[in-house]
Amino acid sequence: MSNTQLSDNLIFQLPVVLQPLLSPLFNNISIDVLRLDAIHPIVSGNKWFKLKYYIEDCKQQEKNSIATFGGAYSNHIVATAFACKKAKIKSIGIIRGEANNFLSHTLQDAKNYGMELHFVSRNEFKEKETIKNKFDKNIYWVNEGGYGILGAKGAATILQTAPTENYTHILCACGIGTMLAGIVNAAQSHQKIWGISVFKNNHSLEQEIKNILPDNKQHSFEMLHQYHFGGYAKHPLALINWMNELYQKENLPTDIIYTSKLLFAVKDLCCNNTFSSTDKLLIIHSGGLQGNLSLAPNTLSF
Ligand SMILES: *Cc1c(COP(=O)(O)O)cnc(C)c1O
Repeated sequence: MSNTQLSDNLIFQLPVVLQPLLSPLFNNISIDVLRLDAIHPIVSGNKWFKLKYYIEDCKQQEKNSIATFGGAYSNHIVATAFACKKAKIKSIGIIRGEANNFLSHTLQDAKNYGMELHFVSRNEFKEKETIKNKFDKNIYWVNEGGYGILGAKGAATILQTAPTENYTHILCACGIGTMLAGIVNAAQSHQKIWGISVFKNNHSLEQEIKNILPDNKQHSFEMLHQYHFGGYAKHPLALINWMNELYQKENLPTDIIYTSKLLFAVKDLCCNNTFSSTDKLLIIHSGGLQGNLSLAPNTLSF
């Protein structure tokens, strides 16, 4: 058994399941959701997958700590803190924005997992190299969100968590697109890979994905840009209502930033006759539910 499989066992508290969507919401198209959210209550599945080869690389380079960047509600920050705790590596989080008296629940969790938090202003946060130079040379740096080739390599293993070869389409939410790059790398040649961007007008996204894909995969995906609901982390009432309806009809909890927008896109595409009755869709539920704790109590029915 490789190191990586051992680490998966350390993180997963529950097995990954494929949940079929059966309500009329999706126009009778055959759809399964890969429930990576269910593997751990706080550590989002997607972020663990993106991290695992960075952790292995850090150990191989014999560096003693991992540092990375993120905002106060970042799934990546809390996943890094948890994974490093499990791997017995010190973790450091460079957090965008001033510290206030009350840490967000995300940062509180990260801190509880042993992460050392450093707050920098929004302007300073943009100068990543300047920040890195202020720290010890023996630190292993991971890009914000786990962006990079090793992140994609880890995300590629998402498709090994369940039998995924027979789906015609695989759809996932995209922030910086590293998860999508991994899925593109691991998919069968007959499968179509579609990303749903959660940023408004992020038209450099395709190029950033191509930068971490091999030459023969540069055109192996499509990006949809019309499902952002106003932009990153924007969650108008229409989105909240959708999340509650989806939960009620499919027993599927989603997060306000990524997976609710993904599932809305899937519904919209199904209702617009994008797919045929022989298509089989795989939807990646990439986790992130901890982010919903930033909402006022009782906003969501789950
Ligand atoms: C980070 C994240 C994504 C997007 O992954 P990228 O590699 O940044 O595109 C999707 N879903 C959830 C829950 C995430 O936390």
